[in-house]
Amino acid sequence: MHFPRVKCIHQGWKLALGSTNTLLLWCGPPLPRHRSDAQFEDDEVRILFVGAGLSGAVIGRRLAEAGHAVTLIDSRAHVGGNCHTERDAQTDVMVHVYGPHIFHTDDREVWDYVNGFTRFMPFKNQVKTTSQGAVYSLPVNLHTINQFYGKTMRPAEARAFLEEQADTSITDPQTFEEQALRFVGPDLYAAFFKGYTEKQWGCSPTELPASILKRLPVRFNYDDNYFFHRFQGMPENGYTPMIAAILDHPGMDVMLETTFTPEMGAQFDHVFYSGPLDGYFDYRLGRLGYRTLDFERFSETGDYQGCAVMNYGDRDVPFTRITEHKHFSPWEEHEGTVCYREFSRSCTPDDIPYYPIRMVEEKALLARYVELARETRGVTFVGRLGTYRYLDMDVTIREALDTAADFLAHAAAGTPAPAFHIDPLTGLRQVATD
Ligand SMILES: Cc1cc2nc3c(=O)[nH]c(=O)nc-3n(C[C@H](O)[C@H](O)[C@H](O)COP(=O)(O)OP(=O)(O)OC[C@H]3O[C@@H](n4cnc5c(N)ncnc54)[C@H](O)[C@@H]3O)c2cc1C
Repeated sequence: MHFPRVKCIHQGWKLALGSTNTLLLWCGPPLPRHRSDAQFEDDEVRILFVGAGLSGAVIGRRLAEAGHAVTLIDSRAHVGGNCHTERDAQTDVMVHVYGPHIFHTDDREVWDYVNGFTRFMPFKNQVKTTSQGAVYSLPVNLHTINQFYGKTMRPAEARAFLEEQADTSITDPQTFEEQALRFVGPDLYAAFFKGYTEKQWGCSPTELPASILKRLPVRFNYDDNYFFHRFQGMPENGYTPMIAAILDHPGMDVMLETTFTPEMGAQFDHVFYSGPLDGYFDYRLGRLGYRTLDFERFSETGDYQGCAVMNYGDRDVPFTRITEHKHFSPWEEHEGTVCYREFSRSCTPDDIPYYPIRMVEEKALLARYVELARETRGVTFVGRLGTYRYLDMDVTIREALDTAADFLAHAAAGTPAPAFHIDPLTGLRQVATD
C-alpha cells in the first residue's frame, strides 16, 4: 500500500479506509478527523505507528502535539487494542471485548492524563472465588482464612496460625509451589493457588519460578480490594472512547483494518511498532511463547453471579473464571447481563497473544530478537507485544509518555531513536543511544 501525501484517508467522523480500499462503517465513538493535503508542510517528520492501542495512541498524541505528522494503522476494525470496549447490542451492557480491564495506578501523572480524556467512575475490584464447594473472598484475607478454617481469629492470631501451617523447612523457595507452601501452607495453597495457577499457565506450579508469587499473598484484615493502588476507576463510557479522544488530534490519522508490511515503513521517517516483536521479523527465529484466552460469551436476564469476577480454583472446572460485565459499570442499570467464561491455553499462530510466558527458553529467544531489533534502523518497538512483557495500562501509559519524551529529545539532539526505550529483557529504561 502506498501512503500518499494526501492524508484524507477518511472523511468526517464516520468512515475509515480498510486494507481493501473499501470505506468501512465505524459504529464506535468518533474517530479523529483528517487533515487535507494542503495542511502538511514539506519538512514535516512523518511517523507511522503500527497499532492503535494505548501505546500507539499515547506516544502518537505527544508527537503530534510536538508538530510531527502521525499515521496509525491497526489490523483490527477498532481502535483501543486489547482495552477495546463496546456496548452489547441486545442488553446495552458495556462489554470488555478482550477481557475485563480495571484501571489502577499510583502514578499521579498517568491518572491526570487519562482523566484529561474521559470521566472516571469509582470502581473497586472485589473478586470472589468458588473452591471446594464454597465461595470465598479474594485476595486471601482474614475473612477467607476464618471462613476456610471455621474460626473467628483476630489479625495477630491468624498470622500466628498461618505460620504454623506454613512449611518452614523451605528456607529458600525456588518454585511457585515452594513459595506458596512457605507462605500459606498446603491447605490454602490447594484451595486458592494450585488449581487456578495450573489452569492459567498450563503447567505445574513446580515448574514456575517463585518470583510469580512475590510477596505474602495474604492480608490479615478484611480489606478485599484486589489492588493496593491509590487511584482506581473505570472510564464512564468504556476505554474505546477514551482512546479515540487521545487519537483526536489534527496531526493524527488512523487507518483501521490495515496490517503492517515492511514497504509501508519505508515511506515514513520513523516507525513505532506495537505489534509482536517476533512478528516484525516474520518469526524467522521461531515464535515467542504466549498464553491465549478463549472467551465463551453468554447472556442471561437479571444478575447471573452477583459480582464482576468469580474465580474457579478447582482443577476439575475447566475455566479459570466467569466475568459479568455489567458489574464493571455499577453505576448503570440493565435488565440483561453478559458474561464471559474464560479458558486459558497455549497460543497458536492463529490466536491472539495475551500473556507472554517469559520462561528461560522464551527469554533466550527474546534476547536474539532484541539483537535483531537493535540492528534495525528507523523502528522503535513499544508496548506489551513490541517488548514482550505483561504491562498494566498505567505502566503502558507511563512508558509511552517517557518514550515520546525520549524520542523528542533524540530528535532535538539529531541522534537516531533507539530500537527500545525500555529494555525488553530487564524492563529498564534505555538511556544510551543504540
Ligand atoms: C486479558 C487481559 C486483561 C487485562 N486486564 C488489565 C487490567 O485489568 N488492568 C490493566 O491495567 N491492564 C490490563 N491488561 C493490560 C492491557 O491490556 C495493556 O496494558 C494494553 O492493552 C497495552 O496496550 P498496547 O498498545 O501496548 O497493546 P495492544 O492493546 O495489544 O495494542 C496493540 C495493537 O496493535 C495492533 N497490531 C498488532 N500487530 C499489528 C500489525 N502487524 N499491523 C497492524 N496492527 C497491528 C493490534 O491489533 C492491537 O490493536 C490486561 C491485558 C490482558 C491480556
